[in-house]
Amino acid sequence: MAMNQTFNRASLEVIAGTMFSGKSKALLERGHRASEYGNIDVYYFKPILDTRDKGIVSRNGMSKEAFLVKRGMDIFKQMEEVRNESMIIIDEGQFFDDSLIYAIQLLRLKGHNLVVAGLDRDFRGQPFGIMPQLMALSDTHIVKIYPVCSIENCVEDGNLPQRNRNGNPDSALSPTVVIEGSSDEITYTPVCKSHHVVPDLTEYINNKLNE
Ligand SMILES: [Zn+2]
Repeated sequence: MAMNQTFNRASLEVIAGTMFSGKSKALLERGHRASEYGNIDVYYFKPILDTRDKGIVSRNGMSKEAFLVKRGMDIFKQMEEVRNESMIIIDEGQFFDDSLIYAIQLLRLKGHNLVVAGLDRDFRGQPFGIMPQLMALSDTHIVKIYPVCSIENCVEDGNLPQRNRNGNPDSALSPTVVIEGSSDEITYTPVCKSHHVVPDLTEYINNKLNE
């Protein structure tokens, strides 16, 4: 099936990458094109993460209000009354529970064009949440976009998220998602493979193998 840049009936497109790679910008441009040139209704969704949430915002200042939902299946429920084949744009795919997989299957059967963006790997460099399943579910279009490595003078792709805690590389033994309200200063920057530092990774993996 040839990909169309405006509307792809009954298909799932996945945009994966690190932070600051332009994923949100790509999502917003995708939605804009469908509504502006394809005359398609576009619905935007995000998982509820915190109360400061302001929809989908790109770093170049574009933004779009989004429905904030708890579970993937909530998107299906929200779209239940919509009869027109529409575009459904979902940001932060890595934070959804696996009911999003079922929701996408059902929404695709109704002819909708789904576009999901998310981080493909967590701070340990491992597949993040349901992003691998979403990529498997897509039969048309998977894009990986990465910014340049954030280490000075390095020109490799920054395809891994470096997580620092109070200025130092965070231990692999820390939780995947930092709990809200932590007093530690947490930062994420995109780095290449050779600049990705994850202390205790071997210990983390050994613990996993012995679970
Ligand atoms: Zn680098």
